[in-house]
Amino acid sequence: MSSAARAAAIELIARKSPLPLEDRSTNVPEVFGANVFGLEQMRTRLPESAYQALRSCMERGQQLDADLADLVANEMKEWAIERGATHFTHWFQPMTGSTAEKHDSFVGFSDGKVMMEFSGKALIKGEPDASSFPSGGLRATFEARGYTAWDPTSPAFIRETTSGATLCIPTAFCSWTGEALDEKTPLLRSAEALNRAALRLLRVLGDTRTGYVYPTLGCEQEYFLIDRDFYVLRPDLVATGRTLFGAKPPKGQELEDHYFGSIPRRVLSFMQETEQELWKLGVPVKTRHNEVAPTQYELAPIFERSTIAADHNMLAMEVLKQVAQRHGFQCLLHEKPYAGINGSGKHNNWSMSTDTGENLLEPGSSPGENMRFVVVLAAVLRAVDTYADLLRAAIAHAGNDHRLGANEAPPAILSVYLGEQLTEVVESLVHGKQGDSRRVGTMQLGVTTLPPLPRDATDRNRTSPFAFTGNKFEFRAVGSSQTPSKPNTVLNSIVADSLEFLAAEIEKRRAGKSLEAAVNDVVAEVFKKHERIIFNGNGYSSEWHQEAAKRGMPNVPNSVDALLAWGNAKNVELFSRLSVLSPKESESRMHIQLEAYAKAIAIEGQSALSVARTMILPAAQKTQRDVAESIAAAKALGLDVSRQFERLHALSATIERCVVAIDELNGKFEHAEGHSGDTLSHAKLYRDEVVPAMVKLREHADVLETLTDDSYWPLPKYRELLFVQ
Ligand code: ADP
Ligand code: MG
Repeated sequence: MSSAARAAAIELIARKSPLPLEDRSTNVPEVFGANVFGLEQMRTRLPESAYQALRSCMERGQQLDADLADLVANEMKEWAIERGATHFTHWFQPMTGSTAEKHDSFVGFSDGKVMMEFSGKALIKGEPDASSFPSGGLRATFEARGYTAWDPTSPAFIRETTSGATLCIPTAFCSWTGEALDEKTPLLRSAEALNRAALRLLRVLGDTRTGYVYPTLGCEQEYFLIDRDFYVLRPDLVATGRTLFGAKPPKGQELEDHYFGSIPRRVLSFMQETEQELWKLGVPVKTRHNEVAPTQYELAPIFERSTIAADHNMLAMEVLKQVAQRHGFQCLLHEKPYAGINGSGKHNNWSMSTDTGENLLEPGSSPGENMRFVVVLAAVLRAVDTYADLLRAAIAHAGNDHRLGANEAPPAILSVYLGEQLTEVVESLVHGKQGDSRRVGTMQLGVTTLPPLPRDATDRNRTSPFAFTGNKFEFRAVGSSQTPSKPNTVLNSIVADSLEFLAAEIEKRRAGKSLEAAVNDVVAEVFKKHERIIFNGNGYSSEWHQEAAKRGMPNVPNSVDALLAWGNAKNVELFSRLSVLSPKESESRMHIQLEAYAKAIAIEGQSALSVARTMILPAAQKTQRDVAESIAAAKALGLDVSRQFERLHALSATIERCVVAIDELNGKFEHAEGHSGDTLSHAKLYRDEVVPAMVKLREHADVLETLTDDSYWPLPKYRELLFVQ
């Protein structure tokens, strides 16, 4: 890699034009779900009785019996072959944060002849070798086997590439002893726990109609695009997903001219193909736009049942990456690809729906709906306050450390934004007094109706990590690269716990009281106890940080400390009581993520060392040599070279500081690598020694960038990465 390669890339990129889309249909209803073996396909292909049996398994999340599985597998295979598939795979979400697959072809032999076969057994159970996936101590090394089991609540789909097609079967991934080795199983269990708790509460509130309740999720996915010809010239990006070096560009995002601006044509072409692919996969993609930072974009779907939405978000991330490559881009899902420029998050819009089509976080228009809404609201506030540490743990990983707490993303303090009017409602319930602005009268639950809440006004506060936005909560602190399964497992679980709590309390107070009075008492108490969690002001301000400390709210700015919450007794007890995670499973999550943190920083440290030693230093030293030569020439002529000499001095001093920083980073890195302690102390060494040494090295290296002859500099610069397209 050389500076000539950088110059060539700039020229090449400037001349690129959008890729034409050959295979684009404007008939979206026809395209939508074309690659999904959904209810529609099942109904037309299966005998009526089999279809009904399958549906009931899907709704209740039960295993299929062997005969039914064979029948379904055969129809699925026929359908997949018609659509060009030759292979099938179980598609699962190990605890690596991404998805995994192991392909098998349909090929089989019968009487010496090749035929295409797919049995019910192969559909409902797979046995990938589990030993290469993280288990956090759940699986002894002598028992490496794990199995994948079809999750019939999530339909099978076909992934097409230019060279073929594969039938993908969404599965859960467990050890032979039944422990969850994946992200999906706990999510499914948490949805079940939420259903049980919500139903119990609804019955207490007199609802006899609702049959089941499910969590809903809509993920707004942010990402960056970078041209592949630049990407390959940045070994730091390739290895770690973010730039470890790069001086601040003359123009950053100050002008705010990118946000919602017109979409560049090459990017638009990429977006259109991404949408086509996702529609075919049944992902209801709805919105596309530019984000705040240059070359940053967003894709958002319509919300769905959260167990499906989580799969769909994982698919969306895969498709974004694959389609980007076809268009000559690299899609960066890292939380912070560029220092000093806004990072990417995944706004996690969350609510609960009933089988009768109601949203439990919809304030509604009748006193009864209002009462239910206020009870559910109280449950969410209690959940976030009681389990703030766990919510924080759910979004902890190395990449997100660059966002949380920096003044662009929500702080690491988990407060809830309710908006002024709803806060007045809460206050009036707690203190029995009228809201200041008189928009809120004295509330009597079940009797009076809430004043209409302005939905617009509720979305204004972008500094809140957990905001009520009219009829759902938006958890904004989730990282862009993360699987949504984890934060939603936590959300569903902590809210389930609170719904149970409120149901039990209301039941207790019913003796001799009207339902309304009992609800009023309980809700007022819960609001009073957890009021501190509400914050409507500027989450970036230092006043808030002080105020939050006064309120006793946790503020955990780094992943390593945050991850310890997986081991806190109250959290372990919660998951175990709700049958979401056994104590062993909780502990394994902590270990895996501490290890992942250490690995991520180790790769960054190694990459920083190599880029600094082999690319940055040599370029700076060439400039140093040039300057020294030119000074010598001027001096030979008897000219005054004192100013030039000062500059040479400055350059040489920075080079020296950079060399010292390299040695220091190397020392810290080797110390951490060679450390033989437990996972936690290992992760701490990376956090406390390697990260600061990397930051220091970067400081000096970025100064060198500004002092080095541009024609020697091999790494595409920020101004090019962000503005040449
Ligand atoms: P904004 O966040 O700008 O207000 P929207 O309200 O349109 O935008 O929604 C953002 C995301 O929230 C979308 O993905 C949308 O589908 C999702 N969403 C809307 N309602 C719900 C809900 N009840 N449950 C979960 N997600 C929802
Ligand atoms: Mg939003």
